[in-house]
Amino acid sequence: MTNTNAAWFERAQRVIPGGVDSPVRSFRSVGGTPYTVVRGEGAYVEDVEGTRYLDFVQSYGASLLGHAHPDVVATLREAVTLGTTFGAPTPGEVLLAEMMVERVAGLEQVRLVSSGTEAVMSAVRLARGATGRDRIVKFEGCYHGHSDALLVAGGSGVAQMGLPGSAGVTAGAVADTVVAPYNVVPTLDETIAAVLVEPVAANMNLVAPVAGFLEGLRAECDRVGALLIFDEVITGFRLAYAGAEQYFHVTPDLWCFGKVIGGGLPVGAFGGSRELLSSLAPLGPVYQAGTLSGNPLATAAGATVLALATPQRYVELSQRVARFALELVDAVSSGGLVALAPVEGPLMGLYLAREPAHAPTNFAEAKVLCDNGLYRSFFHAMLERGVALAPGAYEILFVSLAHSDDDLARVLDAAAQAAAVARHA
Ligand SMILES: *Cc1c(COP(=O)(O)O)cnc(C)c1O
Repeated sequence: MTNTNAAWFERAQRVIPGGVDSPVRSFRSVGGTPYTVVRGEGAYVEDVEGTRYLDFVQSYGASLLGHAHPDVVATLREAVTLGTTFGAPTPGEVLLAEMMVERVAGLEQVRLVSSGTEAVMSAVRLARGATGRDRIVKFEGCYHGHSDALLVAGGSGVAQMGLPGSAGVTAGAVADTVVAPYNVVPTLDETIAAVLVEPVAANMNLVAPVAGFLEGLRAECDRVGALLIFDEVITGFRLAYAGAEQYFHVTPDLWCFGKVIGGGLPVGAFGGSRELLSSLAPLGPVYQAGTLSGNPLATAAGATVLALATPQRYVELSQRVARFALELVDAVSSGGLVALAPVEGPLMGLYLAREPAHAPTNFAEAKVLCDNGLYRSFFHAMLERGVALAPGAYEILFVSLAHSDDDLARVLDAAAQAAAVARHA
């Protein structure tokens, strides 16, 4: 048997560290062997053994339309025949930038890059360059990609591995990173270049901003002349048609994007006012560049996704998720566990507990629930029933536009059974 998940993972581990190109995929925090995906279609993925799963990973939010959407596939087929990268300006990058700028009030310019990590790293450099200040504030449990200065107290895989940060990051690299608890407005001073925040924290499972938190950050940044950076790599063009600004009515100085805007291809972007962005090379002194930045395939896919993601679709998706969250809580409860399923727009978290608990408001509270040991057996019981959740308790569920009400209804029985399994594990 060579075409099995076990065989592929075995082969992978020989030539790729841990068998994966991103640690969360390794199943380390839930145990077992990862399934190796050969194809995806809509809400489903299929592994090398031919097993189909209803997929709530959706590339951690990169697939808003679901996998292999016919329009995205058609766009890519056409785009690929024209050449895949040139090192020269292309119409596609202009079209995607125009669509983004059109949607988000106050976003006047964007620079396209190739990942969320790059977007946030570059936005921080821009903020430091534009303010002439060194220090940045980030919040515990927020994940901003794996650049040196931002890994500290990170959510997602960093939290799953139980790491405070990473080996190989020098003390110097984080000396100017100030870590604060989420949902408390820190008191800033004039040494702070920027405050970086996930407007909905979606890498410590789901933690919503409490009333006044984002407004408070805005006011505190204004008081000391610091820039407010929204890391919208997850929330951008997903939380709502125009993202977190539209949803919360708070306007940052800089936005970071990724995931959704690449339509499943590697992309990222950061942007803000024309004035602020004029600090970037070639106009200004802040250097930033990329051989594959604004890649024609990625921008074509991204533009196709944004064109299909109309305001109405966000409303539909939010309503579907809100209903699903309530039903899932009931299903888990019928299996004898407590589920918390906080919802913001179409974003949905899932915490499991034995006793009633309140929804976490910061990393310390999220950690108690994520580390209580219930998720591991729940995850595997769901997987056995054809439902693929993220292989880690710190991730959220991504419901795509391809998940139908019927798809979601099928999860409920599995969830009740999985809760009963996890309860006795
Ligand atoms: C995924 C993510 C990133 C990093 O994006 P990559 O494309 O993985 O580099 C940054 N910020 C947030 C909020 C993310 O969820």
